[in-house]
Amino acid sequence: MIKFLGTGDPLGMPVISCKCHYCQIACRNKTRQRLRPSILLQENNVNILFDISPDIRIQLLNANIKGLSRIFVTHAHFDHLYGIVDLFQLNYIKKVRIPIYVNRDTLKFIKKYYPWINLKFIVYKNSKKYKFNGIEVIPLQVEHSKKFTTNGFIIRKEKRKIIYFPDFKNFTNKSSFNLSKKADTAIFDGQYILGKYIKDPEHLGGKNLIKIINKLDARKIFLMGVSEHWYKKTEEEILKYLPKNFIIPRDGLAIRV
Ligand SMILES: [Zn+2]
Ligand SMILES: [Zn+2]
Repeated sequence: MIKFLGTGDPLGMPVISCKCHYCQIACRNKTRQRLRPSILLQENNVNILFDISPDIRIQLLNANIKGLSRIFVTHAHFDHLYGIVDLFQLNYIKKVRIPIYVNRDTLKFIKKYYPWINLKFIVYKNSKKYKFNGIEVIPLQVEHSKKFTTNGFIIRKEKRKIIYFPDFKNFTNKSSFNLSKKADTAIFDGQYILGKYIKDPEHLGGKNLIKIINKLDARKIFLMGVSEHWYKKTEEEILKYLPKNFIIPRDGLAIRV
């Protein structure tokens, strides 16, 4: 089972103090709100968290999560990592040390800016298989931030394949692309799926993004980071512009994988 704990862009929905029609809808209707990106894989009594959003406290409470087994972080941008301070408090009080798998740049960032955080960090290697209770996680580097090395993950469970690339500009090589093909479930960067609304060279957007997602030939595609505030369209209106197997998940959605 995959639970979408947060599906929002870096600002989340609604945007603080925004009076636009779409943020007002989200203010009134909780099911239209989006927290920052985190997903949870729950299988065989294992809870694996992918990305530690700054909203992680409320996300874990909302999902009634009793404990985490492993954590994987894609990169050091705030919307994927800054909840680590909350997790540190929790680990400290409960005297547990959940293994946190990060790339080298993310660990460097944590050591520099949160030097007191004493957690169990493991620097993962690209293309290496990490196995727990029948689940396999393979980190793959992708192009995204100039400052921080960024990864995505391939997750395998029996014959099922899930890919998680929440922030994405391109694959770094052909073999990463090939490894990512034909997933049953693709959870992908959708921040600029209808094109760029601000200057942001770190993500792919619009037609080029749709083209590369289509080439991956996944069965179902779940888009992360789509913002009704920026596009001034509802989720339903945005979907009209997209291929049929594209889905805009809401926070709290759980899917069988
Ligand atoms: Zn707004
Ligand atoms: Zn990022």
